Amino acid sequence: SLILLTGASGFLAAHVGQQLLQRGYRVRGTVRSSEKGEYLKDLYKKDGLTEFEYVIVEDVEQEGAFDKAVVGVDGIAHTASPFHFRVEDPYTDLINPAVKGTTGILHSALLEPKVQRVVITSSFASVVNPYDPVYTFTEKDWNEFSPKQVEEKGKEVDPSQAYRASKTLAEKAAWKFLEEHTKDGKAPFDLATVNPPLIFGPVIHQISSASSLNTSVAAFYAYLTGNKKDEDAVNPAGSYVDVRDVARIHIDALATPEASNERFLVSTSAFSFQQLLDVLSKPEYSDLLKSSFPKFVGGKPGTPAPKQNVIDASKAKKTFGWAPIPLEKIVDDMTKSLAERQKEW
Ligand code: NDP
Repeated sequence: SLILLTGASGFLAAHVGQQLLQRGYRVRGTVRSSEKGEYLKDLYKKDGLTEFEYVIVEDVEQEGAFDKAVVGVDGIAHTASPFHFRVEDPYTDLINPAVKGTTGILHSALLEPKVQRVVITSSFASVVNPYDPVYTFTEKDWNEFSPKQVEEKGKEVDPSQAYRASKTLAEKAAWKFLEEHTKDGKAPFDLATVNPPLIFGPVIHQISSASSLNTSVAAFYAYLTGNKKDEDAVNPAGSYVDVRDVARIHIDALATPEASNERFLVSTSAFSFQQLLDVLSKPEYSDLLKSSFPKFVGGKPGTPAPKQNVIDASKAKKTFGWAPIPLEKIVDDMTKSLAERQKEW
């Protein structure tokens, strides 16, 4: 069957596209330029994956932006949403594209009766609240804090709170849309959301320069390149998960009947960046670090993990038979891919 993948050129979406193709789906990606579309076509073709096509959707906020893109598709994975902290206005920079992009794709989905399910990339950002560090978050939790922060502080809001608000309001808008379009207990399609914390792993999407690296991988790259103070590495950093796991769960969420109208937290573990740097303190990495990341310092190896909130990902593990990729492999693959990719910058 044919799956529409929005924001196909992103860090996560490039993996979703790859795995969809590997699992025998045909994929139509939306991208903002033909250059990005051609890059993906070439990338997948190298592995013999030829069932990828793309359409240009420049502005997800425009009414009817996806109307043409949905024609003939059987399912939708909606990943397109801004994830950055360059915020002058929380609404124009983050919230409007996130919310209108989400309601826009759902409106367009109404036009194609073949669409059975829409999987939306939400985030742990839609779940988290600033609780004491003993709390275990589950799918029942909703971020109440960040939207209030935006209301109260306007343009002065902390950019990370603005981002969290954008994801919260977008996911809420999706569930509300479904409710409003359910008539006599019958919905036009069903939903599932995937709610990951910080995503790491190998980068396969197009990256024109170090400064255009996606936000989560950029946070790690800053340590590799000595652009982040090493003492910060020991601080609590939230939780992480591998990009290949998150991609896989998107496809499982599309294909598994029990995923209907459910949220899924996908998380491996809470962490501090020091734990990622510790993986690289093993002697086997010294040559790679010297040649590719000469400014790498490595923080204070062995500093114990800080106490912080955790995420209960048991629902995704149980529903999809998922065993997360461990930290050592994530760091190994991410570091090696960055060493390779930075040669192009
Ligand atoms: P990227 O920035 O790499 O991907 C974002 C994608 O969305 C890109 O394809 C981008 O297009 C597209 N996009 C952003 N804004 C617009 C817009 N206004 N109009 C059209 N397209 C737009 O980030 P990620 O891959 O990390 O993020 C993918 C999804 O995962 C997002 O929904 C994000 O919120 C979510 N997420 C990410 C986490 C992470 O740690 N990385 C954690 C939790 C959730 P272009 O390439 O042209 O800029």
